[in-house]
Amino acid sequence: MELQEIREAAATEFASVSKTKKLKNRTQEPNRKRQERDDRYTALLDRIFPELEKKHNVSKKISIPAPKITREAKKTFVSNFGQICQTVGRPMEHVQSHIAAELICETSIDANHCLILRSMFKPQQIENVLKSYLLTYARCTECGRYNTTMKKDENTRLTMLECKDCLSCKAIIKK
Ligand SMILES: [Zn+2]
Repeated sequence: MELQEIREAAATEFASVSKTKKLKNRTQEPNRKRQERDDRYTALLDRIFPELEKKHNVSKKISIPAPKITREAKKTFVSNFGQICQTVGRPMEHVQSHIAAELICETSIDANHCLILRSMFKPQQIENVLKSYLLTYARCTECGRYNTTMKKDENTRLTMLECKDCLSCKAIIKK
């Protein structure tokens, strides 16, 4: 049931409960019937609240830190690489392999989770390749947020992107 429908149903139900209460003094409705109505109302509330919570608990928009890029001795460093991966909840190795494949470059990750590329790249190139990773593997195509997880569909063997905010679930298509 859509949230809007639940709201309307609740409003109708609530109106009927209020009316019952008003009428009570005059018409002495049988207790059993009144009890049934109250139970229905309670059941409805039980259904509405998790729905509302789901809507309101929608995580704060994830803001992905801009990559801190430096270049030195024919190498390029992304010093906050670990933080970026952690923010979007992706394993560093997965992001790393995407970057390595896209830029055709040897890469490594040091103890401080800094990504080291064994070649000189312009900051723009690094930003673009990170962006392409995020668009393909982390951004929900429905709501545009990054509160997602990747999951392998055992039947189709496709890697699915599941959104925790809007609950969409779509196959990841590599561009
Ligand atoms: Zn979404």
